[in-house]
Amino acid sequence: MKTQELDKKYVLPTYGRVDVEFVSAKNATLKDTTGKEYIDFTSGIGVVSVGHANDRVTKALCEQISNITHISNLYYITPQAKAAQKVVEASGYDMACFFANSGAEANEGAIKIARKHGERDGEIKRYKIITLNHSFHGRTITTVKATGQESMHNYFGPFPDGFVYADGIDEIEALLDDHTAAVMIELIQGEGGVEPQDKAKVQALAKLLKEKEIPLIVDEVQTGAYRTGEFTASQLYGIEPEIITLAKGVGGGVPVGIVMTSLKEVLSAGDHGSTFGGNYLSARAVCEVVDILSELKESGDLEITSLMFNQALEKFYNAHKDIFTQKVGIGMMCGLRVKDAQTLSDIIANAKDAGVMVLKAGRNTLRFLPPLTITKKEIDRGFTLLGSALSK
Ligand SMILES: *Cc1c(COP(=O)(O)O)cnc(C)c1O
Repeated sequence: MKTQELDKKYVLPTYGRVDVEFVSAKNATLKDTTGKEYIDFTSGIGVVSVGHANDRVTKALCEQISNITHISNLYYITPQAKAAQKVVEASGYDMACFFANSGAEANEGAIKIARKHGERDGEIKRYKIITLNHSFHGRTITTVKATGQESMHNYFGPFPDGFVYADGIDEIEALLDDHTAAVMIELIQGEGGVEPQDKAKVQALAKLLKEKEIPLIVDEVQTGAYRTGEFTASQLYGIEPEIITLAKGVGGGVPVGIVMTSLKEVLSAGDHGSTFGGNYLSARAVCEVVDILSELKESGDLEITSLMFNQALEKFYNAHKDIFTQKVGIGMMCGLRVKDAQTLSDIIANAKDAGVMVLKAGRNTLRFLPPLTITKKEIDRGFTLLGSALSK
């Protein structure tokens, strides 16, 4: 049977798949079953941060799995301890890590830490978690409830209690009360449509929450791992959250989720756990990915790539103002607002035919999350192809 038939017969239909199958890839260039090449402006939704088939990651992982892949969290795991050190040092925050396997799971861990911390003096039960409308925090029952999108709360109930949604950063203060355990936000809403929050407002919120001793959780599943230019967008915004979650780009394609927190004493042995989390394979990937990206950052190459990408995007935007209304985003988490939703779907379909992969975000945003290692040649080729897709 062909892949499409197997998929239709044996895989649950939770994804509306695009009719293409990639068989190999290098950096930001993909190849499909017919040998046709595509430029990848998606990096698998911000995951393949170091490019496809990265030589260093490949070498590290092959070496690791030929030694030991998994033994459970009952024992010490050197790559996990080292990955935690690298992540914490790259962030500059005084934090410690818990390793999970996905973004949603990292957010579950964050919520557990906030809720246990909320019970610290026994008398008041602080359980409320305030999140934002148009946010996205994951697909588990709890994180789907944390997600401020009504349409995602169809079916699946009853949900865990205690999630409250604010329309914007401004609205959060009015919702704080004695039962608030935490506020959870994305600094740039990803799935919501590449919406950066206002820096001054975020700083004011962070200050207010510190005064009230309410932890701030920043969901950096999409913005983390140098996507915005700094290891975390929190550093870029100049804030010190109590809890940060990472996933997507930090594993470079190997499933991993990380909760890092300055509330190091909240969870005790037995409070939380994961069979796979931080095993030799995924932790080794994190070590190598963080090393590669930190080196790119320090050498200045990351900034050069980001500048090149943004200049090309700006030029493309200026040439097509009949279709796009605004350029948005920070670093290599960018988007173009498209005049209407139908045009956006047409662009994405035509782009695939032309040989460049792009993403949708929110209702009307064309989203770009290229590998952070994308070359000038790949950027130029991608925008040339995208231009030809528009002329259709
Ligand atoms: C992708 C994403 C998630 C969910 O991550 P999964 O690995 O799919 O569970 C959570 N939060 C944000 C901001 C995301 O972009």
